Amino acid sequence: MKIFISADIEGITDVTHWDETELGHGEHYAAREQMTAEVAAACEGALQAGATEIWVKDSHDSARNLIAAKLPKEARLIRGWSGHPFLTLQGLDKTFAAVALIGYHSRAGSGTSPLAHSFTGKLTTLKINDVFASEFLMDAYTAAYAGVPLVFISGDRGICDEAAAFNPRIQTAAVKQGVGNSTVNIHPELATARIREGMAQAVTQVANFVQPALPAHFSVESRYRAGYNAYHDAFYPGARQIDDMIVRFETDDYFEVLRFMMFTAQA
Ligand SMILES: [Zn+2]
Repeated sequence: MKIFISADIEGITDVTHWDETELGHGEHYAAREQMTAEVAAACEGALQAGATEIWVKDSHDSARNLIAAKLPKEARLIRGWSGHPFLTLQGLDKTFAAVALIGYHSRAGSGTSPLAHSFTGKLTTLKINDVFASEFLMDAYTAAYAGVPLVFISGDRGICDEAAAFNPRIQTAAVKQGVGNSTVNIHPELATARIREGMAQAVTQVANFVQPALPAHFSVESRYRAGYNAYHDAFYPGARQIDDMIVRFETDDYFEVLRFMMFTAQA
């Protein structure tokens, strides 16, 4: 049984400030250690539940955060960005039994994390079909598009609540809660224990999972911090500038949403 794990850093226990998320910054070291511990715990949970092979995508910024030698031997690690529009789920296909997200964070325009964002600081909010969109929501749609159930998420309380509201069958492990410009964190070892346990349960129950259907149509609305970014991204084929700050893109094909995001909101 193959499992796919995508890992971000802003939803890792104790991570609170952008300095901690930046490769090369002195404060990044502790964050990458805990990120690796939480991903290793997710792998262990999956292995307990019968996984034999685990693909791990390092999905934060440089995608060079996780410490490979501290992951179980069954894990193969994807570092860097290939340029494929699946982005954080690069390589996902029907040969995988389940997807899990570790260290995920609250969406742009939410007040539930000091590090809330969707994809890039360029966007103040992202909406899909008039609903505020997070990186979790995009991954949930990508997983549905690939035909693989997204069964588990860990991260801040805000994103875990969003995932549970989107599909109550998704198992969640909240390791922290954002309060204003602060975070309230559980102990790092308690975080890894909850992730290991939740992941084992989620993978064990994968056969009962009900995958939500993909919407038939997608209307993507990117709201930018700077007007010049909206001006630039509105030249993407099929995109329209709605006002100084907003670009809209419509399609029936979710892959085209991913392609739009890769060429606009990513960089
Ligand atoms: Zn990140």
